[in-house]
Amino acid sequence: MKFCPSCDTLAIPAAYSETGCNIFAKNSDRDVTEAQPLIFFQAEDHVNEKMVQCTYIPVEQVQHTYAMIGSKPWWIWGFEMGVNEWGVAVGNEAEWANVPVADADALLGMDLVRLGLERSKTAREALHVIIRLLERYGQGGACKYGTSRSDSAYHNSFILADPLEVYLLETVDRHWVYRRLNDVQGISNVYSIGREYDAASKDIDIFAESKGLHTAGQPFDFSKSFMLLNYHYMGGFSRSQWSTKMLRGKRGHLNAENVLEILRGHYEGDTIENRWSAVGGCVPCVCMHGSEPTHTHSAASMVVEYHKTAYRELLFTYWGSVCPPCCSIIVPFYNAGYIPRKLGAGENYYDEASFWWKVNRMAADIESNYERYHGWLDETRKNTEKEFRRKDIEVRGQAEAMLKEGKADEARKILNSFTDECLSIAETMVEKLTEEIENDMRNIPGEIYRAAYLDSYRKKVNMPIGRGPDEEETRSDLL
Ligand SMILES: [Zn+2]
Repeated sequence: MKFCPSCDTLAIPAAYSETGCNIFAKNSDRDVTEAQPLIFFQAEDHVNEKMVQCTYIPVEQVQHTYAMIGSKPWWIWGFEMGVNEWGVAVGNEAEWANVPVADADALLGMDLVRLGLERSKTAREALHVIIRLLERYGQGGACKYGTSRSDSAYHNSFILADPLEVYLLETVDRHWVYRRLNDVQGISNVYSIGREYDAASKDIDIFAESKGLHTAGQPFDFSKSFMLLNYHYMGGFSRSQWSTKMLRGKRGHLNAENVLEILRGHYEGDTIENRWSAVGGCVPCVCMHGSEPTHTHSAASMVVEYHKTAYRELLFTYWGSVCPPCCSIIVPFYNAGYIPRKLGAGENYYDEASFWWKVNRMAADIESNYERYHGWLDETRKNTEKEFRRKDIEVRGQAEAMLKEGKADEARKILNSFTDECLSIAETMVEKLTEEIENDMRNIPGEIYRAAYLDSYRKKVNMPIGRGPDEEETRSDLL
């Protein structure tokens, strides 16, 4: 393993939220050069299709797959996270264990996320779909673009939610444990389940014993047996503990806004308050920023806010953003069969037609002088997002009135037009701010350490460099 990807997933059972409905949230941390498009797949029948090709291996196809929205690293078949037409939301976490990942191509954790979404009407069903596929096909394969299995394969944990239940599933090789969650839980790149679980794979204790990780006759503890205690992976402890603590402190008051604040968090109010800065490089925070072109950063974020409703179209609002969420803006999506096409564009080089790359350019500009430019974004974003949230309630009310009259098409049109409207406002804001920051950057250079990273990063992905050639020369001299 030569790199340390990360992610953070938050499970919020109903008792903790403002509306008495579950909330699911995730930051997907991926390679800084890898776009993560947001895509809608419609429901499909597969009458003559026996197998479906995942990232590395084919698996047996089912007769029908459900519609879903997924956040998909461009070269991977599966999803980092997503939500389907029944309101099932799933996201995974990379985990390292003191048992090696099988050295064979198998299912990626991301493939299992998508397969779970495609084949389930409830979180519990998705849990069992993933377990069955894991036992049958195993997990493994390179998770980082252009690397080998030995460089980037990992085990996985999953949070699975629907409007009624939330589960935590943790796996090692083809073994697993799960627990239904009644309490908030932030998970990261370290196992969370110890001795308390609802079910485990057959002979998991014997498997641990065969590896010298468990003593027969002692109570079986999943984390204690399999967690790899390694200097490089310790960031997961502080991140999951911080996010869980932040969630717990807001019992009964959690909503899309303050959950998003946690996804945008860098230990504010805690460990390194006022000492953190994106300019300072890679601190393993919940909101992750890269500091080398081979590192990871938060590539996409989602907050699925469930609603009490009689209509499937209104089951949830999916608040999505791309790139490190503290340097981005949210847009709402609905269970209405639509994601704007420009969100599906983007690969591993800068692309003006891709919303992901446009936001990433602005994020890189902000990171070049975080103290100065983050305030510029925050000033505009605060009111815009507040307005999006206010109108979300209004628009869902209008759609519900249409649904009551049996006008489902009209209802979907209202919801999807609102998505388009918000995306257009977000894109205009990103373009305007990028221009303003880049004009300013020509006069006020960023902090030198950060500038070195950003220069090499921009070159690597062919991203326009937002300052004049003279200054670039001067800075090269300094380095
Ligand atoms: Zn951040």
